[in-house]
Amino acid sequence: MRKTMLFLVLAVFLSAMGFRSAFLPGRNANPANEQATRSFQWPNGKRMALSLSFDDGRLSQVDTGLALLRNRGVRVTFFLLGNRIEKRLEGWRQAVADGHEIGNHSLTHPCTGNYEFSRHNALEDYSLSMIEKQLDSANAQISRLLGIKPETFAYPCGQKFVGRGRNAKSYVPLIAKRFLVGRGYLDEAANDPAFCDLAQTLGTPFDDMSFEQMIKPIEEAAKQGRWLIFVGHEIGERGYQVTDTKALEALCDYANDPANSVWLGTVREIGTYIQEHRAAIN
Ligand SMILES: [Zn+2]
Repeated sequence: MRKTMLFLVLAVFLSAMGFRSAFLPGRNANPANEQATRSFQWPNGKRMALSLSFDDGRLSQVDTGLALLRNRGVRVTFFLLGNRIEKRLEGWRQAVADGHEIGNHSLTHPCTGNYEFSRHNALEDYSLSMIEKQLDSANAQISRLLGIKPETFAYPCGQKFVGRGRNAKSYVPLIAKRFLVGRGYLDEAANDPAFCDLAQTLGTPFDDMSFEQMIKPIEEAAKQGRWLIFVGHEIGERGYQVTDTKALEALCDYANDPANSVWLGTVREIGTYIQEHRAAIN
């Protein structure tokens, strides 16, 4: 009797172990991915890559941000809404002249209708062809007004679907077809350069944070050799959807200090490096 019990316990234990190694994503789930992660190197031995991005073409990005960034010698990615560029046309032309990247953030910013501001422009009511029009019209506006062709896109509200329920569809493939990089929002992690899908990279907020709060995800990313993409909106005094000017200055100084070994680049620059470097090691 006792022997039978012992056998049963052993059998249960072994099957549990087997289940674990067969079905749970352990460190060796895909050795090829691990190999790729280990062999991926940032240029000049940098520990990590960091991109600063700002969405919606908010006026404070031009009015306050451009001078601050020029002062620190930092270039960022501005994701513009096609139909808002003319509110600061000269400012955005200056941003291009300063070496900043201009990305596409759609024409009219469709998000889920659960956000009151998007109820009459809701992704639930969109089709893929309506999204295609958003993407292509915004590209046409940017190219007409600023003379450049965007290579990167930021999903409005970080949302990547159209339609509802059984008829819902992902619009990630439309982004992959047109852009080098698609960037999300309100994500919680940095991107693994050896593994990430460039069409849906993670974007983490840095609005309403002190410099000390910004440093935490940076240190985490540096430990793992990742690409952290920060997402902000207004630039001014710290608050809801406002990246704090003092914290931003301190962040620029930190990233510019060679001792911290951070590669600070635009979304396009880092996306290009990842694409080329992966092709070289595969
Ligand atoms: Zn937005």
